[in-house]
Amino acid sequence: MTYVKPGLLRYVLPAYLFGGLLVGAAVPPMQRFAAAHFGRAGYAVAFAVNIAMPVLVISLAAVYPRLGVVLAGTFLATLVFLITRGLNAPPLNAGWLRSLLGQMGPILVVASIAYHLLAAGTVAVLRPFRRVGHPPDPKACSCGYVLIGLTSDRCPECGRRQTVPRESALPTDP
Ligand SMILES: [Zn+2]
Repeated sequence: MTYVKPGLLRYVLPAYLFGGLLVGAAVPPMQRFAAAHFGRAGYAVAFAVNIAMPVLVISLAAVYPRLGVVLAGTFLATLVFLITRGLNAPPLNAGWLRSLLGQMGPILVVASIAYHLLAAGTVAVLRPFRRVGHPPDPKACSCGYVLIGLTSDRCPECGRRQTVPRESALPTDP
């Protein structure tokens, strides 16, 4: 079991923000590249929506697998991505809002829901191996009683037998 320090949150939330910004901002140059090399600018948006964004939200969910954070972060990244895509369509006037709403077509709504499911799924899959929090005290019984200076191999609180060293028993611990 790997325990992720809760303080890492201070880097993870900005990473969602900048990730969404970066993917959104990378679309226009990718469109030029795709148009020049494959003759289809549309590949760029497909890549951003179907590959870059899922990779972003899955990676960050794996780095900091706490459900509330990955859902909020994924929402943030998706929103920033969509806004960045909207900003890519000048001019910045009434047409801007229409173009932003245009970016939020049905496919992107479905994609946004899928990002949240992927992020939540990553947390669920990693749960047995990796979670945010502090490791349990190796000198404590599973009931929470701290076993220091005991002569018996049984916990005086719950009577459970203690195997020493406890570290070797960790992989099967809950
Ligand atoms: Zn105990």
